Amino acid sequence: LIQLYIPLNFLGVMYREMKQAFTDMEKMFKLLGENREVADKPGATELQVNGAAVRFENVDFGYDARRAILKDVSFEIPAGHRVAVVGASGSGKSTLARLLFRFYDVNRGRITIDGQDLRDVTQSSVRSAIGIVPQDTVLFNDTILYNIAYGRPGAPREEVIAAADVAHIRGFIEGLPDAWETTVGERGLKLSGGEKQRVSIARTVLKDPPILVFDEATSALDSKTEKSIQAELRQISENRTTLVIAHRLSTIVDADQILVMQEGEIVERGTFRELMALGGRFAEMWRLQQEEDRARSTAARDEPPQ
Ligand code: ADP
Ligand code: MG
Repeated sequence: LIQLYIPLNFLGVMYREMKQAFTDMEKMFKLLGENREVADKPGATELQVNGAAVRFENVDFGYDARRAILKDVSFEIPAGHRVAVVGASGSGKSTLARLLFRFYDVNRGRITIDGQDLRDVTQSSVRSAIGIVPQDTVLFNDTILYNIAYGRPGAPREEVIAAADVAHIRGFIEGLPDAWETTVGERGLKLSGGEKQRVSIARTVLKDPPILVFDEATSALDSKTEKSIQAELRQISENRTTLVIAHRLSTIVDADQILVMQEGEIVERGTFRELMALGGRFAEMWRLQQEEDRARSTAARDEPPQ
């Protein structure tokens, strides 16, 4: 009987864990609005990371065969470099991140990490190599400890705490009445935008991936919080291959390369200096944003004290 009991019990535990993991993935996908169309090909191998250089080669992509979204997109992020992507809303910036994470496969061309086509390696190995800090971080209705540990399920508590320290959210958590056991999310404590982004940063620190993607990670924050979160993002992206999708152009002036997207195509590329000297689309976006900033700070100054 005991021989029968052990495997059944083991399966029971496995089943519960798998079900939990599956539910979370489902939630995550639902919240991200993504599908799970992509499957590993038979005999897919694990991605071998060696520096984590990213390449898009002549990539065409559409969510729907009738509508092209990306057209002949080519660029490279050499290992440890930072490439920024800017462009109007709907120009295809987040689509680049989704393809790199392999939520979808390309229609033409290829995407490689250290020379390996994403279609030849397992999805799980690709996804474990990439950390994404999105605009809106998904929180589960669970403890803050669980929410940060989600970056690397099974991580020891000390490492979760250390990650929260790097993300400057440890003091805040330990000051709560229930500290690490505080329930957050829809049915728990509502975190501010900045606190949520710090949870996301802590998750990423814990995951410790060689590739980072920041998708307008600070665009929903007030300018003071944005500055401090930007400084943290900069710190964690040191020596990691980084794709920064930027809303505020001032946050990417020192990127190794800036790509300007327009209707699914890269229409300009270069360093900040090069693009300003070019006097094209980027220079125009920069000028408009500077003007908006000036108008906003004038308006703030003219506001009567409350
Ligand atoms: P950006 O991040 O630059 O604002 P996206 O990459 O999110 O742009 O979107 C590019 C285009 O793809 C948009 O026209 C958008 O409507 C479309 N799109 C985005 N996600 C989907 C999807 N899941 N299904 C169909 N179309 C989508
Ligand atoms: Mg986007």
